[in-house]
Amino acid sequence: MRINVTRSSMPPFEEYVEAIRPLWDSVWLTNMGVNHEKLAGELCSYLGVPNVSLFVNGHMALEMTLQAMDLEGEVITTPFTFASTTHAIVRNGLKPVFCDIDPEDFTIDVSKIEGLITKDTCAILPVHVYGCLCDVEAIEKIAKDHGLKVIYDAAHAFGTEYKGTGVGNFGDASMFSFHATKVYHTIEGGAVTTADTGLMERLWKLKDFGIRDEEVVDGIGANAKMNEFCAVMGLCNLKYVDSEIEKRRTVFERYREGLSGIDGLKLLCPQKDVKPNYAYFPVVVEEEIFGADRQSVIDSLRDEDIFVRKYFYPLTNDMDCYRGRFDSSNTPVACHIADRVITLPMSATLATDDVDRICGIIKSCRGGRS
Ligand SMILES: *Cc1c(COP(=O)(O)O)cnc(C)c1O
Repeated sequence: MRINVTRSSMPPFEEYVEAIRPLWDSVWLTNMGVNHEKLAGELCSYLGVPNVSLFVNGHMALEMTLQAMDLEGEVITTPFTFASTTHAIVRNGLKPVFCDIDPEDFTIDVSKIEGLITKDTCAILPVHVYGCLCDVEAIEKIAKDHGLKVIYDAAHAFGTEYKGTGVGNFGDASMFSFHATKVYHTIEGGAVTTADTGLMERLWKLKDFGIRDEEVVDGIGANAKMNEFCAVMGLCNLKYVDSEIEKRRTVFERYREGLSGIDGLKLLCPQKDVKPNYAYFPVVVEEEIFGADRQSVIDSLRDEDIFVRKYFYPLTNDMDCYRGRFDSSNTPVACHIADRVITLPMSATLATDDVDRICGIIKSCRGGRS
């Protein structure tokens, strides 16, 4: 049977059906309905944050947060991420300035941030990539010293904590994605967490066309509201997310057992003081040492109906839409990783036998023996 890189978690069918039944009576399908409000409240407690603003997806949550902050100039970010992060900056008329990444956890290399700050820098937009947390303490200090806003792309980091504090508490705001492929999902959806109640109010308005009240439209907003069917999916999935993460841990540890200690395969190391969510299992294939390149590993797996992803490749500063505007040679570590990384199938339902089979196939590629 085909194994994909991910598989969405599904609540029991009857539970979802029962939960949407009241919508046939109320006929309140969107525009901040009861389920929307209930989900926002439950997510505040789950994530341990003061406020949650729900969105139609993670991208719009990020784009509108940048808009709501009224930023101008340059935003320091990383290219080793999903297209969304960079697009959100550019679509706000801001200029992304790419910082290189740490070779171990692939998050922004904090030692290289200050060298990129200019008089035009207004914010830092780091990514908790694969659910690995950025060095939030160092970033906070840099931001404070230079008067910069910090917006985290926490799309991968649902449920993670640093020293017991929910990840959504760091920086001025954090964006979460609740896309079907993420650890926790609402089919499509996203959220912003922030302690700033003024920002919460601006987001509330912007995601509803900038409408203040029936007669006043005083923001150039768009439509980015989460509907009731998605909110209900979120309420159902939230009940199971802890057990889903626990199942992911089993898969993650099985992979680590199967693939650690192999020359030329670099795996993620557990981060100190971090409660992880086991969102992804990336492997960096150092072909010179492993004796086979990334593509041959991908092809060998595909021959067995196992589909992995080059996640993240290409770097955003190498994407066709940005050709000629950015230079990826300024981020050599990100280039090195993007050219060699694969993310292996990862989901709560992936069987131990399948993990073993995947590890076996990868190992059989060693030294060109594929
Ligand atoms: C998924 C993702 C997004 C966008 O979220 P959507 O909910 O799909 O719009 C942004 N950044 C990263 C790193 C992501 O993985």
